[in-house]
Amino acid sequence: MNIKHPKHEQTLVIIKPDGIARGLVGEVIRRYERAGLKLVAMKMMRATPDLIEKHYTLDPEWRRVTGEKTIMGYLDKGLKPPVEDPLQVTAILLGRLVKYMTAGPLVPMVWQGAHAVQIVRKLTGGTEPLMAAVGTIRGDFVIDSYKMTDDDDRSIRNVVHASGSVKEAQDEIAHWFKSNEILDYVTVHEKYLYDPEL
Ligand code: GDP
Ligand code: MG
Repeated sequence: MNIKHPKHEQTLVIIKPDGIARGLVGEVIRRYERAGLKLVAMKMMRATPDLIEKHYTLDPEWRRVTGEKTIMGYLDKGLKPPVEDPLQVTAILLGRLVKYMTAGPLVPMVWQGAHAVQIVRKLTGGTEPLMAAVGTIRGDFVIDSYKMTDDDDRSIRNVVHASGSVKEAQDEIAHWFKSNEILDYVTVHEKYLYDPEL
């Protein structure tokens, strides 16, 4: 087996507490499943604040990068950021994220297939539902905006988390799943997607 083949790429998706409470588990799974991606791990659980904080800070650069990106977002809209220091911005975001992600159960999953990270991000849509493209999960199922969440001092509610890069996916999968929880099996899709002899 050539494990370097792109069909082995894996990504982490977490259905967040709002997605579960709104009965969207089946809908979310359907969207990744029908594209031909393979579900190779899934569970339902409640997370501790520590597990969530570690999830968002697996990348030691996350605090700085997300803080800077958020500040740029304000400036691009001609708005003044609430605080100037990127790390202070992320400290606020992280506190809100921990509250949101521990508000109810989560469904972490691992999806596998060619370009799984990029395909899942495309089907999931942009972070802010207000701007997320129609036809994506965040575009179709949520009304939410940074404006509203900043006013209400809460996290953006966007139904799912999806890894942003292959490296992030590898780190996040190892954070949420033991290696023996990730299962190997064959789907009928695989022949039609990947078999050169079809
Ligand atoms: P994701 O990968 O699409 O979930 O987005 P990121 O990894 O960039 O950000 C992680 C989380 O940080 C998001 O789900 C938001 O809760 C928060 N976040 C990111 N960027 C912004 C922003 O510009 N403004 C606000 N208010 N929150 C943000
Ligand atoms: Mg991210």
